[in-house]
Amino acid sequence: MPSAAFRQPIWKRSPRWQADVISVPRKSVDVLVVGAGFMGLSTALHAARRGLSVRVLDAGTVGEGASGLNGGQVIPGLKYDPDWLLQKFGERRGEAMITFGASTADAVFDLIAQEGLDVSHVRNGWIQAAHTKAALTAIQVRDRAWQSRGADVEILSVDRIAGLTGARGYLGGWLDRRAGIIDPLSFVTELARIAQAAGVEISEQVRAKSARRADGIWSVETDRGEAVNARFTVLATNAYSDGLLPGLARTLVPLHSFQIATAPLPASLQEAILPQQQAVSDSRRILVYYRKTADGRLVLGGRGRMALPRSKEDWRHLQRAMARLYPQLDGIAIDRRWFGRVAMTPDHLPHIHEPEPGLMTVVGCQGRGVGMMTAMGQRLADYIASGNRDVLPFPVTALVPIPFHQFRQVGIAATIAWYRMLDAFER
Ligand SMILES: Cc1cc2nc3c(=O)[nH]c(=O)nc-3n(C[C@H](O)[C@H](O)[C@H](O)COP(=O)(O)OP(=O)(O)OC[C@H]3O[C@@H](n4cnc5c(N)ncnc54)[C@H](O)[C@@H]3O)c2cc1C
Repeated sequence: MPSAAFRQPIWKRSPRWQADVISVPRKSVDVLVVGAGFMGLSTALHAARRGLSVRVLDAGTVGEGASGLNGGQVIPGLKYDPDWLLQKFGERRGEAMITFGASTADAVFDLIAQEGLDVSHVRNGWIQAAHTKAALTAIQVRDRAWQSRGADVEILSVDRIAGLTGARGYLGGWLDRRAGIIDPLSFVTELARIAQAAGVEISEQVRAKSARRADGIWSVETDRGEAVNARFTVLATNAYSDGLLPGLARTLVPLHSFQIATAPLPASLQEAILPQQQAVSDSRRILVYYRKTADGRLVLGGRGRMALPRSKEDWRHLQRAMARLYPQLDGIAIDRRWFGRVAMTPDHLPHIHEPEPGLMTVVGCQGRGVGMMTAMGQRLADYIASGNRDVLPFPVTALVPIPFHQFRQVGIAATIAWYRMLDAFER
């Protein structure tokens, strides 16, 4: 097992969030949510506000999964550009996906503003940084597609991107001003706080072990030996899905994303590096993403080894990436290293499943889950309250296991090595 030190992100829990101390937990609710990340808590909050009784269980603490560990980049849109979605899914479904994708960053920043959440945040956009001519061409297509839909986006020249990032080596880029950065752990714990205030009962350190349905009611057994009954059960376990729903874990590939955070930068470097605090992802096949924190650290993340990390050396590739972008950071200490799991689906889209009536799950957010899962929770609550599938942004599909799933580690390791080599050739 990796040292506990590698599970502690730089982010802060909201001091306003206090877990319930419940002597007699509810045994029967309208909605039971398994997983206290963005999706579980957003679903719970919105379902409670629609008048439903809700309980949330998490095997760990609130935000212990990817929601408390991520880079805090709130990026709207899906992996695919609008024209591709229309071509692939047709006018009606494609347009629904585009509209949903465009709204996901709003879902986060609106909650922060309207609920007065205690979450450090900056909404100054996300930069997609191009390091090749091919990446620049792709960015221009993306820009035209979103410009024609009235989005606040802009192409960045080589000088402009150098000024905004302070980084070396980019040929240009794309700025999407709908995006921003947050402290993700504060956000997820603040979500828990307002969900609790709306009447949701949140039980930490309780693992759901099995789910069975009889006479239209789900009965979920926990490792505390209790059974919770619910009309509707939502598995919001995403990349941390275990055997609770047989077959679910085999529909996705859980990848490790690793992150490093520097010590707070001296004032001169803070002025030169990301002076306007945008989030950045680059255009490499094995991309790196980075941002600054409220206290002036640079946080940089990227793909990590598939096996659990053993030592600081497993983060060395991120230090090399940081040195390549920012040679001026030579000698600045790395204060924290951590990692978490991201769920990838073969088609790079989120998958909504309802394998039996009243049992729902959504998996796969391809590294855009901060906005996407917050917005998704709202739509799931709408669906649960109304029974109308049209409110869901993606089709409800059957669970399709990935062929040769048991060999995924070998396949992914080989693909990553190959992509790293192609990226290196392009440098
Ligand atoms: C290092 C890293 C960096 C990332 N960076 C970004 C980024 O910058 N921007 C972005 O948009 N996205 C990013 N992501 C992705 C994003 O964090 C996730 O998509 C999102 O947090 C998923 O939220 P969730 O609520 O679906 O799942 P999670 O937050 O993973 O929650 C799942 C929960 O289910 C619980 N659970 C599992 N099984 C059980 C069980 N049987 N019983 C009870 N509880 C159970 C787990 O304990 C966990 O708390 C990143 C992810 C990682 C790991």
